[in-house]
Parts: sequence; C-alpha cells; structure tokens
Amino acid sequence: MNKASYLEISLFCISVLFFLQSCRLDSQKALQNLTSIKDTSTILKQNINPDFEKEPLSTEWEELTKDQGFIIDIRYATNNNFMKKKIYDCSRCLMRKEAARALVLLNEELVRKYNYRLKLFDCYRPKDFQQRLWDIMPDINYVAHPSKGSMHNRGVAIDITIVDSLNRELDMGTEFDFFGKQAHYDYTNLSKEVLANRKFLRAKMEQYGFAGIRTEWWHFSHKGKTYPISNYRWSCDKK
Ligand SMILES: [Zn+2]
Repeated sequence: MNKASYLEISLFCISVLFFLQSCRLDSQKALQNLTSIKDTSTILKQNINPDFEKEPLSTEWEELTKDQGFIIDIRYATNNNFMKKKIYDCSRCLMRKEAARALVLLNEELVRKYNYRLKLFDCYRPKDFQQRLWDIMPDINYVAHPSKGSMHNRGVAIDITIVDSLNRELDMGTEFDFFGKQAHYDYTNLSKEVLANRKFLRAKMEQYGFAGIRTEWWHFSHKGKTYPISNYRWSCDKK
C-alpha cells in the first residue's frame, strides 16, 4: 500500500471518530431536552395491568419508613426526576426482607456513630412501573428493558445517599440520576471530600451486604438471595 492510501485510510478513520463523538453528544443533548419529549400522559394511563398482584404486604416484603429514621424521597413518585414525570402512584419504599433488614441495621449504625441517616430515592419498582419508565425513556443506557428487568424489579436494589444531622445530603459530586461520567464511581476528578463521601457510602453498603455499580454512585443491590421480577403493587390507601 502506498503513502497516499495510508493517508486516505487515516483520514477516513478520523472522520469516523468525529462522527461517533458527535452522535454521543447528540444523545446527551437529547437527554437534556427531555421536557420536550412526546406527551406521556397517555402512556401513564395505558400499560397498567389491571390484574396486578394485590396481596397485602406479606412475608416477602418489608417497608422502610421515616418512623425507622430514614429520609424517604422517592423521586419517581414526584415530578422531581430526570424525566420530569411522576411514574409511581404514591411514595412508598418496599424491599425484600433481608435487604430491608440490612438497611435498617446500617441506618442505626450511622445514627449512632456519626449522627448521619440514609436517604432513599428509589427502592422496589413494580414491573408495570418499569414499563412506564421504558415507554418514556426507551434507552438501555438509562432504563433497563422491562422484559429483562432490573434489580429494582426484584426488590433488592436501592438508590441511596447519606444526610448529616441537619438533613443535608453529603456532597457526592452529582445529583441522584445524573447521567454522565461525573456520576461514575471510578471518576476521580472530584474534590477529596466528594471522593471520601462516595467511598464511605460504598464501604458501609458493602459492609451490610450490598454491591455498588460503576456508573451510578447511588445504586446498590443486596447480594443475598436472588428473587424473580415482581409486579406486586403497593397500596396508596395507607395513611
Ligand atoms: Zn438504582
């Protein structure tokens, strides 16, 4: 191959790289423009299976509440989430029992030793609600496909942070559900304080049987028993 061919091939490769980079930027822009996404009110009314499991809280589930000392801030039960859409009918935090127990014990330790508390952003997520999320954001980079499900659908995943004695969130570098490399656990171009806070959260979660993931500092799954995807839906009549 002569020099000219090498040059042509190199130029072609560089163009491809530029094209891929611009695609990535476009997808980021698309996410920022979520508010302009198609009208989702119809979606929210559809895709709810009327035959959802209606059994009461059973031996399978345990609810985490503010009475146990948690701060409950279930973002998908409000418009304060990355989709700016309310997904859940009401705010409750259910988990499989062993995961719930572990969180209760961890919260007790944080209160006792540090005057900290756990703040919970998302807990068990019924399959139908996974479908709602998917219908609004059909992108596996942000939402698990409903047929595959996520650990949240199995009742063992939690989205979580720590607050201090004045209920101020420890600085973790980004908000919950921030989609970008700054939210990655292995992104280290952050202040010493942020890195220490993330390390502290992860160390404590691991100590109580949870495992983190690389791309979201707030997401942890309990490593105990495996559970099937569930569509048990909690009642909103309580209170
Ligand atoms: Zn999560």
